[in-house]
Amino acid sequence: MATASYVIGIGSNRRHGRHGAPAGVVAAAIAAMAGLGLDIAAVSRTRQTPALGPSSRDFANAAVLAGSALSPPALLALLKRIERDFGRRRGQRWGARVLDLDILAWSEGGWSDRTLTIPHAALAQRAFAIGPAAEIAPAWRHPRLHATFRQLDMRLAAPRAVDRSGRGS
Ligand code: AMP
Repeated sequence: MATASYVIGIGSNRRHGRHGAPAGVVAAAIAAMAGLGLDIAAVSRTRQTPALGPSSRDFANAAVLAGSALSPPALLALLKRIERDFGRRRGQRWGARVLDLDILAWSEGGWSDRTLTIPHAALAQRAFAIGPAAEIAPAWRHPRLHATFRQLDMRLAAPRAVDRSGRGS
């Protein structure tokens, strides 16, 4: 069976009773994905990211490159099952969350339906998503933005262009 690859983003900003601090939750989530049949080919480093929105605790973020024969909706269902197993409560959009798993990108290009958009809408806008993705899949090309993940990561990291002409507007 043909196997596609996915870049899956992982985030946590709450302790877990068994897995401990968020970085431990990230490591346990990767083990859970492997245990459910994903072929983990690469793992980014885990970075600490200040929380967005009202949740004040820092996040641990990482990404994995995973081979799978699952379709995007089937993979999303599997990731939601893992989130539930880790005790994530529904309806918490910005609040503290034990585990957040997102399909950031897919080797076969884009996907869009009622519940799923690939590449993930935040991929190119959030350093905690594009940073780990660029680390493990630097040459992957965003199908709508026509830039590689490395380029997108560098664009986000670069300071805003400054007008050095000295002319005011
Ligand atoms: P959130 O709580 O922000 O993680 O949003 C989860 C919901 O976003 C899921 O239930 C999906 O229906 C939807 N979604 C849309 N695109 C994606 C994606 N690429 N990966 C994961 N969830 C997605």
